[in-house]
Amino acid sequence: MIDLIDVSKSYGPGLPAVNHANLHIDKGEFVFVVGNSGSGKTTLIKLLMKELDSTSGQIIVSGERLEGMKHRRVAKYRVVNRPTRVIRKRVPEVLQEVGLAVKYKSFPDELSGGEQQRVALARALVNSPDILLADEPTGNLDPKTSREIMKLLEEINARGTTVLVVTHDQAIVNTMKKRVIRMQKGIITEDEKESGYIG
Ligand code: ADP
Ligand code: MG
Repeated sequence: MIDLIDVSKSYGPGLPAVNHANLHIDKGEFVFVVGNSGSGKTTLIKLLMKELDSTSGQIIVSGERLEGMKHRRVAKYRVVNRPTRVIRKRVPEVLQEVGLAVKYKSFPDELSGGEQQRVALARALVNSPDILLADEPTGNLDPKTSREIMKLLEEINARGTTVLVVTHDQAIVNTMKKRVIRMQKGIITEDEKESGYIG
């Protein structure tokens, strides 16, 4: 599903933000990406979304090389959207499942951070994208809301979506027992399958 072969990304002189990364993620996996601030996690996610181009190496997503991929193709692989009428019908149902039915009609500005995350994830539940990339989805949320968001991500994963989540939340990583990739100064220094321990 996702392959990185000797991928580096430099923004300028000095150490690359992502430094000779090699990574293989199978279809249907749930993977956490952890590491200190500045270790290259967001850069890795942006490379996978083709928001950034790598400086060297190869990135292959769903059998296609991202280098040289046309922009229109990228939009297609990020989220394959269902027709709008299906979303209109299904989003309220899914929101009810995740406890947000009442607020669906409010303006996005009136939704709390956790609610906005849930709306975004409800959309992912409806769309069933091949891959969901989430960069610190529980960033400023309280522990209870964070657990709910993670439950939703698990649900999306259980429905077949490959999920990659950047997080700082060590408690969640330790309890969820998923594959954990650690980055340090641009380098993937650990890749533990379902150890769930990032001590
Ligand atoms: P993380 O998400 O793990 O905090 P980032 O991928 O945001 O790490 O950043 C990795 C490194 O790249 C850091 O040293 C950061 O300062 C640098 N960096 C990130 N974005 C840019 C940018 N647009 N221009 C220059 N340097 C950047
Ligand atoms: Mg970041």
